[in-house]
Amino acid sequence: MSLIKSLIPQKIHQERKNFRSVYSIIIVNLIILTVSLFFVPIFLSINFVAGAYIMFYSSLATLGYILILNLNKNLNISGNYFIFQIISICLSMMYFTGGISSPYLLWLFCISPVSFFFFREKTAFFWTGIIISSLLIFTVSQLLGYPFEQRLTPIVLNITWTISFLFGVFIFVSTFRNFQKGINKVNQKLIKINSELKNSNQELERFAYIASHDLKSPLRSIISFITLFNKRYKNQIDENGQEFLDIIATNAEQMQHLIEDILEYSQSKNRELKKEKVDLNKVLKQIVSHIDSHDFYLDGKIQVSSLPIIESDFTVFKQLFQNLIENGLKYNHGPHKLVSIQYLEKKTELYFLIKDNGIGMEEAYFEKIFEMFQRLHNKSEYQGTGIGLAVCKKIIQNLGGNIWVTSKLNEGSIFHITFPKSILWTEKKAPYKNEKNLIEMES
Ligand code: ADP
Repeated sequence: MSLIKSLIPQKIHQERKNFRSVYSIIIVNLIILTVSLFFVPIFLSINFVAGAYIMFYSSLATLGYILILNLNKNLNISGNYFIFQIISICLSMMYFTGGISSPYLLWLFCISPVSFFFFREKTAFFWTGIIISSLLIFTVSQLLGYPFEQRLTPIVLNITWTISFLFGVFIFVSTFRNFQKGINKVNQKLIKINSELKNSNQELERFAYIASHDLKSPLRSIISFITLFNKRYKNQIDENGQEFLDIIATNAEQMQHLIEDILEYSQSKNRELKKEKVDLNKVLKQIVSHIDSHDFYLDGKIQVSSLPIIESDFTVFKQLFQNLIENGLKYNHGPHKLVSIQYLEKKTELYFLIKDNGIGMEEAYFEKIFEMFQRLHNKSEYQGTGIGLAVCKKIIQNLGGNIWVTSKLNEGSIFHITFPKSILWTEKKAPYKNEKNLIEMES
């Protein structure tokens, strides 16, 4: 899709409304061209010369229009040519069908409003001026007795039609070639941009890793010294001093979490994944007992359906589910916090649902929350770094899976995860999802 977009001339891109009208004109023109190529000889053979004229002039104008569009890809010139095309067809048809009393006069009058639809006032007035002056010339020449009659014989028409046909073939071929060239150019550009992006991404990841890794040890010693200071001099500092110290300690801890999360994120892509037998039921058991041991999640309840055995990395999956479950309990201030993990084995993929009855979120944030440092709440409301879901997404994508969220504000969220079925442990068939078989674990 983006490839096709990049092939569209920039100007048309910018003027979306006109863009649609220009492309619809091309389609209409192509239809006219194709139809006229077939109909002109048919009309001539049945002696319907007027029909042949209409088709002939339309096809000529169409060819010119496509040629100009093909050469310059400029919206204004193309639009101007479109109006020019209609005016020439109308005037030619009037010339052959009775001049000022011709029914094509009505068509000519329609062009002005059409040009106002396409252009800004200045251009539209220009075309209206052309139409009025042509009409004046027409009227004067008719009043002076200039004969308006059909001048082209079918033979001349046939010859010019053949030329127009060859011209059309040439334009189609050159358009196609231009298109191919455009695709090749865009492809090369894409390859270049891709490799540049890859390099800068790698550099950024390396930077994040080194920075967070090197910050870890000085920060650890700051935290240990704060603790030591607290222990040794607790009785010697006044209330204000103690408050300052507590603030320093809290901030240092926040910084430690942030550094650990950044480190985790920068490692999550390049980490070598183990290929071991992982019973996800065991993974969840460990997570639940970890959550149990936290006072913070005291009033939370976790429901887990029967999960499969897979071939992957135990630690990575633990990290993934733990992140999502803890979020489900953290972003939740109901009296009965509940997170349920459900599993479905689909035809080609493994499908997990992590449901909570928490605060939920608006649809506008469904994609944003998976980006680095994107938080919907500030630290005073909920602790966090805004990295957890970005790590989850990276882990899942590395495994060829996908993650997305559906949610309703104040009603809860559902995190959907899919993995290719190939990660299932093959020795033994994994248990199938059975909703009745929910193992309830209180935390
Ligand atoms: P953190 O929790 O450290 O802020 P995350 O990447 O895990 O970072 O989450 C990003 C943001 O998405 C959170 O700040 C929160 O606003 C929102 N969010 C995540 N999980 C949930 C959830 N289960 N319910 C509502 N909002 C959530």
